[in-house]
Amino acid sequence: MAILYSLVRTGIAATIGIAGMLTAGAVSADSQPAKVLFGTRALPADTNPQSVGFYTGGCIGGAVAIPVDGPHWQVMRLSRNRRWGHPDLIALIEDLSRKAKADGWNGLMVGDISQPRGGPMLTGHMSHQVGLDADLWFMPMPDRRLSYQQREEMSAISVLKEGSVHVDDRRWTSAHTSLLRHAAGYDKVQRVLVHPGVKKKLCDTVRGDRTWLAKIRPVYGHHYHFHIRLHCPGDSPNCRSQNAVPAADGCDETLQWWFDTALRPKKPDPSAKPKEKREITLANLPNACTRILKAGAVEETEAEYSMAASAFRAPPIELPAVSATAILASKPIEAGNISGRKAGPEITVPVPTPRPER
Ligand SMILES: [Zn+2]
Repeated sequence: MAILYSLVRTGIAATIGIAGMLTAGAVSADSQPAKVLFGTRALPADTNPQSVGFYTGGCIGGAVAIPVDGPHWQVMRLSRNRRWGHPDLIALIEDLSRKAKADGWNGLMVGDISQPRGGPMLTGHMSHQVGLDADLWFMPMPDRRLSYQQREEMSAISVLKEGSVHVDDRRWTSAHTSLLRHAAGYDKVQRVLVHPGVKKKLCDTVRGDRTWLAKIRPVYGHHYHFHIRLHCPGDSPNCRSQNAVPAADGCDETLQWWFDTALRPKKPDPSAKPKEKREITLANLPNACTRILKAGAVEETEAEYSMAASAFRAPPIELPAVSATAILASKPIEAGNISGRKAGPEITVPVPTPRPER
């Protein structure tokens, strides 16, 4: 059965603030870091939906926003303006929220998806650039609607035991497993990224059909949230696919490697040189991304859509103008959870993450 969508109002303030982000002097716009150019766009390009490039280097035209509230979801960290994605992804998150609810998960707390035109971000994330990646918190939404401020302040909760790389059995529930099984069950989902401890928990406990475990891929971080990634959609010929996941369930020595090697604390290497950080500019992205960046914006009133069938009325939340300053000040979702762990924009996961999410 086809799902019908209807346009609803967004309330997105279309003004943007990039004060302080421009380099002094006569610098052409195109030589600015791409994260500044893409990170401060308030609305998507008025094009057909199209994901361009790779998850870690690309952009999206014709993105749509998931509404800040739905019957079974709430979007967090609204100041970042990262609730945009390919229409297939937004539809899938909405569908997943219904399945989650039916399985005893109170509803999704939706983290970062993509910026209105995708591209590199001012903070966090190597990927999430083509509107096909979404972060969902490892905690069900509360029974009440959170205010704008609560969505900025509230911290996610790790599913790991404090100071451990293994899941805390007091926090892990069968609803966690069901949610990941549903997420991996969509044909459109290419992979689901979780902490190795989470993967191990599934390997140790899932009975019956285990084929879906193949799509559950261990990576650093990802114990406060998990990450779903879609295949390149049919409407996006310039979207570059990622290698297929191996067919096996992955509960083997490749998983053990994480515990034996990757997650072991490493002694700092005194002779290691600090990595030079290369600023990504427009020239480093596919050419189509320059066109998408410069294209006219969709009307504010047409930028968001949701299912007509379950029109949901929540108390409206007024969203502020998109501002680089606010994005840079936005709290990491892990802030303030684990005692003794420093919170701040530089500390987003308890292990080093030199590895891009591939
Ligand atoms: Zn992610």
